[in-house]
Amino acid sequence: MNDILPDQTPLWQYLEDTVRQVLSAYGYQEIRMPAVEQTELFKRSIGEVTDIVEKEMYTFSDRNGDSLTLRPEGTAGCVRAAEEHGLLFNQTRRLWYTGAMFRHERPQKGRYRQFHQIGVECFGMTGPDIDAELLIMTARLWKALGLTEHTRLELNTIGTPAARRQFREALVAYLSDYRSELDGDSQRRLESNPLRILDSKNPDTQKILDNAPRLDDFLDDESREHFEGLAQLLDAAGVAYTVNPRLVRGLDYYGRTVFEWITDSLGAQGTICAGGRYDGLVEQLGGKPTPAVGFAMGMERLILLLETLQLVPDHVDGGADVYVTAMGEGAMITAFGLSERLRNELPGCRVVTHCGGGSFKSQMKKADRSGARFAVILGENEVRSGMAAIKPLRSDEQQQEVSQAELPVILSRLLEPA
Ligand code: ATP
Ligand code: MG
Repeated sequence: MNDILPDQTPLWQYLEDTVRQVLSAYGYQEIRMPAVEQTELFKRSIGEVTDIVEKEMYTFSDRNGDSLTLRPEGTAGCVRAAEEHGLLFNQTRRLWYTGAMFRHERPQKGRYRQFHQIGVECFGMTGPDIDAELLIMTARLWKALGLTEHTRLELNTIGTPAARRQFREALVAYLSDYRSELDGDSQRRLESNPLRILDSKNPDTQKILDNAPRLDDFLDDESREHFEGLAQLLDAAGVAYTVNPRLVRGLDYYGRTVFEWITDSLGAQGTICAGGRYDGLVEQLGGKPTPAVGFAMGMERLILLLETLQLVPDHVDGGADVYVTAMGEGAMITAFGLSERLRNELPGCRVVTHCGGGSFKSQMKKADRSGARFAVILGENEVRSGMAAIKPLRSDEQQQEVSQAELPVILSRLLEPA
């Protein structure tokens, strides 16, 4: 579980703001759920025989003896909240949320025990149009972040539960003949969750899978049409994808469309955004049958990716714009007054007023370290004459003396981007 320190938060804010802008451009609304839910909720939605529920959840009993779990993902809680507050009654919804998720995994690059997701969930829409919208929207986000060239979309359809059941039987029948040649995880999954074997990264298992039955051969007509509809809309929108017939996703609740946005720039932890359709989940959790589709993106991986590719924009520096220094008690009073005026008249300008006294030299050192582009210097002379000095901190330009009255106007001109 990581601390995110002040020199990192500006990049986080930049990422979050960019995502927020894109989501709002499509009319998505934010929902905020608690970080803790009843353990049962996750078991019933994610599935008992998934990695998350079997070995990754932080579960504890509270003082009432209720079993609670720190949320490992957002979909279950979102469905619970939407259902509990009647948000899904005879209406469509486009929702998003952000927050910390918790999984007891082996920590490594791009994989942490507390991590952050921005998730999107859409309810009440059956057709492939909304699936397409989600993917077109994410493609727009990658563009806004400069990531288009560094991401690719993998897409699959896993059909209806009935189709998957038939496929599962055929897959188990086929793989049982090779049981001893499978990797350990896959051997166990042969009983518990055979579809997950398709996810195996083990090359020998992959080789065996090459001749395995394909889900595609068991697909129902409606799922096939849905998938073709989605492909058509993506083609028309110019969103490129590859169909990966082995993409099944880890959780039980998916059906039909599943997808992952992958980058090749982060090594093994390359999935930055993943999701799919889960038409059965709302009903499974006690609601009326409600079609649904969504995705979640991993913020840590996106931050890593922006850093790795050096796509962090210049304005993401986290410092101040103006640092106001004051020598002497009288100057301090003036400094506070002037700083307030700067904040009134230069909205958005980050003004740091020096506190804690000290010599001119030490104040200028702090001004420099603040990242500000200009220091405003108020000494006893300036206070007496109603003047202030503006010292550029990031260029060799000359310091200038201006009247305190004109200071906001002159600073605003100086701060304008060149
Ligand atoms: P993976 O196969 O990498 O374990 P997952 O299928 O468990 O991913 P999801 O539950 O689909 O992941 O979560 C969506 C996204 O959240 C992932 O694509 C990833 O970007 C991010 N994510 C998942 N688990 C972690 C983690 N432990 N640390 C950081 N990011 C994570
Ligand atoms: Mg995982």
